Amino acid sequence: MIPLFERYPLLKEKLPYISLGEFPTPVHKLDRLGEDIGSGHLYVKRDDLSGRFYGGNKVRKLEFLLGKALRSKAREVLAVGYAGSNHCLATAFYAQQLGLKSISMLMLQPNADYVRQNLLMSYYLQAELHHHRNITSNVLDTVFQLMWHGIKYGRLPQFIPPGGSSPLGTVGFVNASFELKEQISKGEIPEPHYIYVAAGTMGTSAGLILGLKALNLTSRVIPVQIIDEKFINTPKMLKLISATNSLLCSLDSSFPALEFSEEDINIKQGFLGEKYALFTRAGVDAVTRMNNNEGIKLEGTYTGKTLAALIDDVEKQNLSNKVLLFWDTYNSRDFSNAAASVDYHQLPRRFHRYFEEDVQPLDRYR
Ligand SMILES: *Cc1c(COP(=O)(O)O)cnc(C)c1O
Repeated sequence: MIPLFERYPLLKEKLPYISLGEFPTPVHKLDRLGEDIGSGHLYVKRDDLSGRFYGGNKVRKLEFLLGKALRSKAREVLAVGYAGSNHCLATAFYAQQLGLKSISMLMLQPNADYVRQNLLMSYYLQAELHHHRNITSNVLDTVFQLMWHGIKYGRLPQFIPPGGSSPLGTVGFVNASFELKEQISKGEIPEPHYIYVAAGTMGTSAGLILGLKALNLTSRVIPVQIIDEKFINTPKMLKLISATNSLLCSLDSSFPALEFSEEDINIKQGFLGEKYALFTRAGVDAVTRMNNNEGIKLEGTYTGKTLAALIDDVEKQNLSNKVLLFWDTYNSRDFSNAAASVDYHQLPRRFHRYFEEDVQPLDRYR
């Protein structure tokens, strides 16, 4: 049973949940990378291995979100994201395992090899793919597709929120802090001073911040901003934490109702670069350093920028004696064989651009 349900059995009765991943994910020390960057106590949380065939941070959220889809007897799920969205791919992957059809509403983004791979794999998983140039047309078409599929099946598809970061999806990362606490108790890792994690729609970091406080752990989460400030900022983070806390308290009154203020939120800026999914030199250097030292595969949109922030802090803030935890949010299971069996011409025409145009200049680290 997952640690959150062990501690709060009422939540087990009331929350929709379906087991999809492989938990707990390993936590271990990174001696070589630590030495390379000047940290004597650097650890990694391997959420890249959260699923047998497809991992990454979205699996924890989907255990609740797809649990809800099953509970409401949906036949289809609809997810939204950018063209290379790991979230939409994860949704397509686990929806298919559960016999649900998935629809992905995707938006224009800078080109990269991982975008191509994710699109091919989504097609392989029989996801229905739609492409839009901007948010407005994506939202309008999303409403249209929900209605249209609703008419076809007499039931609306289950809407999966952006990044899976509704309060319900965020509960997946409240549970993740309970999982980390068990690993600390077993001596697998000392209690971290700082936890670095990529932050997009913030469900990952918000769930961790809430869970750690509920457990009286003092680790500070450093959410590294990898998308425009419109989407990730302190007020939004506080709102998501508080909505998730309310959800848990409303289902089980023994779950603590906690107060959070701006001091609890330490969003790290300055590593996004020009914009979302446009790689930075510091980010790709960090990807290379992780790969050369530890053989762990990161990428340029989220985890590279996050590790770059950690490295920069170690250099400038004298963190050499602090226990640092890098929370790896990127899937590292290899699906290239399945993806290679798809010819991109089979995808809807609007996606061909990602295969016919060059990838961005910094995407040389595969
Ligand atoms: C989606 C994603 C994130 C962002 O997580 P949020 O919960 O949306 O903040 C980080 N890393 C990777 C690899 C992702 O795919």
